Amino acid sequence: MKGWRSLNKLCWSARRNVKVKILVTNDDGIYAKGLWALVAELQKVGEVIVVAPDREQSAIGTAVTLHQPLRLREVRPLVAGIKAYAVEGTPSDSVILALGMLGEGIEAVFSGVNEGANLGDDVLISGTVGAALQAYLHGLPAIALSVEVGGNMHFKVAAKLGSLLVNKIATNSLPQGLLLNINLPNLPRDEIKGIELTRLARRSYADLIESGNDGKRDYYWIVRGEPQWDRDVGSDRWAVEERRISITPLRGELSNAHGISLEGLCSSLLQGL
Ligand code: MN
Repeated sequence: MKGWRSLNKLCWSARRNVKVKILVTNDDGIYAKGLWALVAELQKVGEVIVVAPDREQSAIGTAVTLHQPLRLREVRPLVAGIKAYAVEGTPSDSVILALGMLGEGIEAVFSGVNEGANLGDDVLISGTVGAALQAYLHGLPAIALSVEVGGNMHFKVAAKLGSLLVNKIATNSLPQGLLLNINLPNLPRDEIKGIELTRLARRSYADLIESGNDGKRDYYWIVRGEPQWDRDVGSDRWAVEERRISITPLRGELSNAHGISLEGLCSSLLQGL
């Protein structure tokens, strides 16, 4: 019995010695505080490499740069001992470069911690979620972490949550095809009331267009108005407003072939062709 136990212990420690290799990226830029708060926690449980845009790239979604060359430079990390690279490109570019040439053997990708929530339909334009989606499309477990904006930012809770998820990935206790969008209220741990599995909230769009003239040409500026949110129980928006952490499992599949009735459309289009 004793022999078994020590063998078990040996296997356990052997497994723990091979640290999970993690890519960390974001859309707030490589020197964002949230990213380094996350790195500081993740390096306790994994081997971390940082590849992130050299400047803020919020609301860029999953955009990939195809019509100009990408540049990459190694930068001084804000956490000692971490390899960090700044990319003159988007969050998705960073993920593609990292997976293709920098981080051999990367097993998980974290995006964030973003300063500002990424809730509901906004996941479609979020660069934070876009980077995670890119990693998911490459077949890796991918996690986007965001904290609601407001005053002093409490990134540490999100970062700790990230490290707990790394442990779960290391022990294969999460399902394949993992893409999580996690949002936290901006609160210290003792004021957070719980963790909820949620769905994306729907919101009304309230984009305003402001126009003017710069002296030469007319311009138009898209200004995001204050939307009306669905606050139904179970939505991500609801959870964060209830001072809970929201975990929304996402998937890459957007098609809705059976969700709406378009019967007869194909045959009538074919007839008209
Ligand atoms: Mn951002």
